[in-house]
Parts: sequence; structure tokens; C-alpha cells
Amino acid sequence: MKKILKIAAVILVVLIIGFLVWFFGFAPAYVADSRNEVINKPPYRVSEKARALHEKLLVADLHADSLMWNYDLNERQRTNQVDVPRLLEGNVALQAFTVVTKSPRGMNIERNDDKSDNIFWLALAQRQPLENLSSLTKRATWQAARLHEYAANSNGKLVVIKTKKDLRDFLERRKTEKIVGGFLGIEGAHALDGRTENVDVLFDMGFRMMSPSHFFDTEMGGSAHGIEKYGLTEKGREMVRRMEAKKMLVDLAHASPATIDDVLAMATRPIVVSHTGVRGTCDNQRNLSDEQLKAIAKTGGVIGIGFWDTAVCGESAQHIARAIRYAANIVGADHVALGSDFDGAVRVPFDTSGEALITEALLNENFTEDEIAQIMGGNVIKVLSENLPD
Ligand SMILES: [Zn+2]
Repeated sequence: MKKILKIAAVILVVLIIGFLVWFFGFAPAYVADSRNEVINKPPYRVSEKARALHEKLLVADLHADSLMWNYDLNERQRTNQVDVPRLLEGNVALQAFTVVTKSPRGMNIERNDDKSDNIFWLALAQRQPLENLSSLTKRATWQAARLHEYAANSNGKLVVIKTKKDLRDFLERRKTEKIVGGFLGIEGAHALDGRTENVDVLFDMGFRMMSPSHFFDTEMGGSAHGIEKYGLTEKGREMVRRMEAKKMLVDLAHASPATIDDVLAMATRPIVVSHTGVRGTCDNQRNLSDEQLKAIAKTGGVIGIGFWDTAVCGESAQHIARAIRYAANIVGADHVALGSDFDGAVRVPFDTSGEALITEALLNENFTEDEIAQIMGGNVIKVLSENLPD
């Protein structure tokens, strides 16, 4: 009997050690790799005409969740979708690095509550600081600190943009140097830990864009994928006022229709949607109606079209360009932009080094070169150059 107990104890210890080695050693990389699939691997081939045009563009992307995955942005990765070497290869000038602080188990676009917390387990497996386990604000500031650290270790190749002057200086330098600019955004105002004062904390860490909600309704506003899908709460209004005073951009990606209406009714500055699709080419509740597109464009803002299947109902550059064409027909080419959602646990047709494929697909959609320049980045750069803090 004693011997059996002994053997059972040994087996138990081996199993526990095995689990810990897997959880802390292999699981984070495995999850990052399996959740961020690239359908067609680089290198990418495009026509001479597309290549020549693409090399002249200032490309900007409003959304990538790369900071969630704990890899060195300065090193070229075989996994994931964005890093500095591939951004430079794709001739990307500006990349938004958006931070996810909590996401529900069984995430879907119809109905999620806030009871589960996948990012808790990811943070634990990545051995993030203990305070990140209990505070969503800390999870956000920790990821921001990592972007600043990557920039500091990039030999000047990665520059974090926080002000109008940062952007001007960056664009000047970029005329002669191969560099990329990053700016920080947040997916969902649960990152405030329920305190609107934390807008200032996030601003001080460099965040310049935030959405009221991500996959579940928050204390600030309802999500398109939440349970109740309500609009802005009183706290949410206070948050929008505070963000506008700080010159942060309000992002309506993932917002419920009621939240979209409430934000638009009170906004005094341009509104952005960092990553979305349009119902005109992909009709589901993740995506925007024609009326919503028009109302957002009216604020002087931009709408970033996503690269994944639920956004554009297809998995090719041409499907992305088709959604861009539809949006541009509704609101004009000067309000449409790119919002890839790279590294956002999505499957995409190419990684960031393949952005020229979109330039080629936009040529196929009969956009003029000036329109392509606007869509690929000009519109985003205009909004930032006019609306970042001084
Ligand atoms: Zn998202």
C-alpha cells in the first residue's frame, strides 16, 4: 500500500513539474504562434508598377496587438505578424501598437461577459510582474513601457510618437533614414480599472488612442459583442471629456451601436475606428453600417479597414481592397485607412512585410495614385499631425 502511495506521489510530482515547464516554458510561444497565423509567408511579389508606387508612400496602420506576445520587436520573428525588420521591409512609416488588457474565454462577436480573463493566464505564463495580475491599468502601462524599451534598444530605428513635434521630426528624419514610428493605443477602457483619473496615467505612458470597450461591456460603454450593448455611461462621458482635453483620440472599434451614437453626439474632435470591416461587403455585427461610416467621417476622422476574415469576408489583399473601395464610395478616399489587427489573434493573408500587396490591390480597384497615398497612410498622418498634443 505504502509503495503504491509512493509511486502515485512520484507520478503526481512529475506531472506537476511537466505542467509547469509547459505552462511557463512553451505555452506562451505556442499560443502566440498558433493564434497569429500568416496564410502566405514572405517574401511577397507584386507588379513593378505597384512596387514603384508603394516605395513612394507613407504607409500607416491603425492597429496591431503585437505587444501582447512577449517577443523582441527589434528581432525578426518566424512567428507573429509584426516586428521592426518586417515593418521596414513593408515600407511602413507608422504603426499603432494597441494594447489588450483583458479578453473573455470563448471570445465571439455576438455575446461576451467580463467574468473570464484570458489575459490573466497569458500574463501569468509570460511571468509578467505580479501587479499585472490584479490591475488592468498596470497591464497597459507595462506593455507601453516595453514599447519604449524596444525603441530605446532599436538604434534609432523605432521611434515612439507622442506629440505633433515628434511626428514632424520623425517624418523629416524618414526622408533619409529607414525608420518606423509607433504610437500607442488601448483596446477597451476596462484598462482604466474603473477610474477615469487613470486616463492621465495612460496618457503619461504615451497612450494617444483608446476605445470605450473591447469584447465585453465596460464601466465606460457597451461593446458590439457585449451582453447588454448599452451606450456610454456617465463615467464613459467623463472619460471622453478627459480624453479630448488630453488630446487623445477616441477609437470606436468594437463599440456597440449605442456607444457609437453617444460618442458621436458629444465628440468635438475627429473620431477614429482603428480596425473594422464594412457591412456593405461583410455583413456582421463586428462591422460598420453605411450610416455609421458617414457619421464618423463627418467628424473628420478615419476608418481603418481590417485584414482578417470577419472584417472583409475573405482572406486576400483583394478582399481588403474591396472593403476599402466600398467605404471610399460612401465617405470618400480621404476618410479610409488601414487597420490590420496584426497579432490580434487573427489569421491574415500576409504579414506586415507584404503591405505592397494592398497597394497593388488598390490599383486593381482603380484608385488614383493620390487616393492610394491617402488610404495607405496619408489620412492617418493628417489626423495625427492635426490632433496629437503639441
Ligand atoms: Zn480588436
